[in-house]
Amino acid sequence: MAGVLGWPVDHSLSPPMQNAAIKELGLDWVYVALSVAPRNLGAAIEGVRALGIAGLNITIPHKIAVMEYLDEIDDDARVIGAVNTVRVDGARLIGSNTDAYGFTATVMAEGEMMFPDATVLILGAGGVARAMAAGAAAEGARKVILANRTRSKAEEIAQDFDSIYPSTRFEVVQASAPSLAHAAQRSGLIANATSLGMRPEDPMPIEAESIEPHHVVFDTVYAPPETELLKAARRRGAVCVGGLGMLARQGARALAAWSGLEPDEDLMLSVLRKSVAESG
Ligand code: NAP
Repeated sequence: MAGVLGWPVDHSLSPPMQNAAIKELGLDWVYVALSVAPRNLGAAIEGVRALGIAGLNITIPHKIAVMEYLDEIDDDARVIGAVNTVRVDGARLIGSNTDAYGFTATVMAEGEMMFPDATVLILGAGGVARAMAAGAAAEGARKVILANRTRSKAEEIAQDFDSIYPSTRFEVVQASAPSLAHAAQRSGLIANATSLGMRPEDPMPIEAESIEPHHVVFDTVYAPPETELLKAARRRGAVCVGGLGMLARQGARALAAWSGLEPDEDLMLSVLRKSVAESG
């Protein structure tokens, strides 16, 4: 058995995606959504040891709080400061983070972009932005430019990562239209890591006029699958990459860690696309 632990977690897209991949791998497992209130997190993690669960995904709001209940946190998760995957190794629970892989693998596969020497503009400075900045730097990006409504959070990421990734330059710019336009001009990849785009009334995270045909534009928001940002990017002739690929690949990486097998990422992505289409 495996599952996703969150609060609330009823609308998670992970169970159908993981169960399809589990079946295809021939594993006798089931993947379930586990709704756990923050006050019960420690007891739930102890339950993992008792029940012999193969592994867990961790989602909002537990990604940081879960760390204190684990026996080991791997280097990627420690740098990112959050755990989205727990694997069981004998009696030990090991936390990792597969979001950075989900992001970089998706941009490389669907955007046909290579990170070495690239300049990457990341909009946002929350948990996902931090994973994306770490992923871009680990893949060899020359420069990561961060812009966030709350500038101090972007500065914190730049400060934390400066010494961890000495080959990558981290720069923080104002999240204003002129600053973003200038930063976009200098970037090959524009990646939205804000939650803007989830609601129809949301403003764009960057003005459409800042997007040019040479850009790869990635949106971490996956519902709707084509956000206003991606529609604008398509109209402007840029290469567009949606967030569902990241969700599929972070999940595939987690399943690989639990099972030691290579899940079918394309199958997982197609199940996600179907789930999102069905949920309207
Ligand atoms: P988070 O830690 O809460 O960060 C949210 C980010 O959005 C912050 O940078 C925040 O800026 C910014 N933001 C929110 N409202 C804004 C507004 N009105 N104007 C400007 N900026 C605004 O969330 P997270 O965990 O990083 O998740 C971010 C998004 O990623 C989620 O909404 C979700 O759609 C998506 N996601 C995608 C995947 C995937 O696999 N594709 C996985 C997880 C999450 P401040 O710092 O100024 O508040």
